[in-house]
Amino acid sequence: MKEIGHWINGKHVAGTSGRFADVYNPATGEVQAKVALATKAELDAAIAAAAEAQKAWGATNPQKRARVMMELVRLINRDMDKLAEALSSEHGKTFPDAKGDVQRGLEVIEFCIGAPQMLKGEFTDSAGPGIDMYSMRQPLGVVAGITPFNFPAMIPLWKMGPALSSGNAMILKPSERDPSVPLMLAELCQEAGLPDGVLQVVNGDKESVDAILDSEIIQAVGFVGSTPIAQYIYERAAATGKRAQCFGGAKNHMIIMPDADMDQAADALVGAGFGAAGERCMAISVAVPVGDETADRLIEKLVPRIEKLKVGPYTAGDDVDYGPVVTAAAAERIKGLIGSGVEQGATLVCDGRDFSLQGYENGFFVGPTLFDNVTRDMEIYKQEIFGPVLSTVRAKTYEEALSYAMDHEYGNGTAIFTRDGDTARDFANRINIGMVGINVPIPVPLAYHTFGGWKKSGFGDLNQHGPDGFRFYTRTKTITSRWPSGIKEGSAFNFKAMD
Ligand code: NAD
Repeated sequence: MKEIGHWINGKHVAGTSGRFADVYNPATGEVQAKVALATKAELDAAIAAAAEAQKAWGATNPQKRARVMMELVRLINRDMDKLAEALSSEHGKTFPDAKGDVQRGLEVIEFCIGAPQMLKGEFTDSAGPGIDMYSMRQPLGVVAGITPFNFPAMIPLWKMGPALSSGNAMILKPSERDPSVPLMLAELCQEAGLPDGVLQVVNGDKESVDAILDSEIIQAVGFVGSTPIAQYIYERAAATGKRAQCFGGAKNHMIIMPDADMDQAADALVGAGFGAAGERCMAISVAVPVGDETADRLIEKLVPRIEKLKVGPYTAGDDVDYGPVVTAAAAERIKGLIGSGVEQGATLVCDGRDFSLQGYENGFFVGPTLFDNVTRDMEIYKQEIFGPVLSTVRAKTYEEALSYAMDHEYGNGTAIFTRDGDTARDFANRINIGMVGINVPIPVPLAYHTFGGWKKSGFGDLNQHGPDGFRFYTRTKTITSRWPSGIKEGSAFNFKAMD
C-alpha cells in the first residue's frame, strides 16, 4: 500500500507516529493509499525548522520572492493535467472541475506576483520640523494554513500565495482525505526557487492542528473547513494570542423572482446545486422562488434537467456532470438527511438515495435529489448537507424570501435571479451575507478581490486573498524619525500638534 508522508525541509519524509488515515478512490470505494498523521513532536520540529528558514526568506527582497511566484505559475500550468488527475482520483470530482480547482488557486499565485506593490509602505515627508513618518508591512514569521478536503489545490494556494510572497514561512496542514496535491505543490515551489524549510507540508489530524494552535512560534492561522472546527480553531488560536481567520460552512440561498428568466435560473441552479456533488462552500443548496406560480414553473424546468444529469467517475469522460462524494460516511450522512426530509414532511421530487452505477457499486455516489415545500424547522434546511441535494423553500413575497437568507445562521454566499434592477440593488445592499450574485449563482470573487463569508461562515475580520490576504499575513510598523538638525527644543511632556 502506498504511504504518503510529509514535506519537510525540501524533502519527502515518512511519518514516525505509526498512525495513518485511509485515502480512498471515492469512485471505486477502494483505499488507494495511507497518509501519515503527524505527532506533536513532528510538528514542533517542522515549525522550528521553518522559523530558521524564514529569517533569510523574510530578508529576501520582495521582487525576488515575486519571481518565485512567477515561476510557480509557469510550473503549475505545465503540470496542470498531472495535478488535476491526482486531485480527481482522491477527491472524486470530474477532471474539468479538478482543473478549475487548480486554476482558481493559480490565479491567486498570479496576483501574488504583484506582492512588491501590495507590501509597499507609506511615507510622509516633513510630518513635523525635520520629522518624517513612514510605515512598512513586515511578515509575521511562521504562519499556518489548515485546509479542507473539497478544494485540495485552490485553498492551499490561497494560503501559500500571500503568506510566502510576503516573506513568511508556512506550515500547511492539508486535509488528510486528499493529501497528494498539496505535496505536489510543495515540490513545485521548490522547483520554482522557494528555499527549503520555508514551506512545510505536514499531514495530520486533530493532534497536528492542536500542536499548531498551541505553538509559541506560529503567529497566524488561516483555516478553512466546517463551522464547529472553524470556531474551535478561532477560539484556541486567540487564547495563545495568534491572529486567526477561520472560514466555515454554508447554506447558500438563491432567490428566484417572478420576472427571472426561468431557463437561465434553472440551468444555474442545476450547476450550482449539483456541481462537484454539492461539495462546495459556494454551492447553492436552497432555492427560494417567490410566489407559487414561480415555484411551479421552476420545478417544472428543474426536473428534466436533473433527470439528464450524468453522474460517474472522473475517468468516464469530460461529459460527466459530477462524481462521488468524498467518503462512505459522507454518502451515508447525506442519505440519512434525505430520509429526515421525507419524515419531516418535505416533498421529495427527485430521490438520489438508490443511485448505483454498474461497475462502481462500491463507489460513494449519491444521485441528484430535489425537495419542494421545505420549511425552516426541517433538518435539511438547518444543516449544511454538503451533497447533491437541492431544497426548495416557497416564499410568498420578496421580503419573505429575503428573510430566509437573512435569518439563516450561515452567511457565505447568496444569489438573486431577477430582471429588475431595483430589486437586485435592494438585495445587494440589505443582505447580511459576504458574497452576493446578481444573476450569477456562484459569485466567487476573483483573486484581486477578497473572499469571505459572514455570520457562522467566517470568524475573524479579514478575508482571503486579494489585498486582505496580504493584510492578514503581514503587520504594519510605523516609524517616526527626526534628524538632529530638526531638533529645536528640549524635552516634551505633553502630546501636541507637530507644527
Ligand atoms: P473539516 O472541518 O472536517 O476539516 C477541515 C480541516 O480541519 C482539515 O484539515 C481537518 O484535518 C481539520 N480537522 C478536522 N477535525 C478537526 C478537529 N476535531 N480538530 C482540529 N482539526 C480538525 O472540513 P472538511 O470536511 O474537510 O471540509 C468541508 C467543510 O469546509 C464544509 O463545511 C465547507 O462548507 C467548508 N468550506 C468552507 C469554505 C469557506 O471558504 N467558507 C471553503 C471550502 C470549504
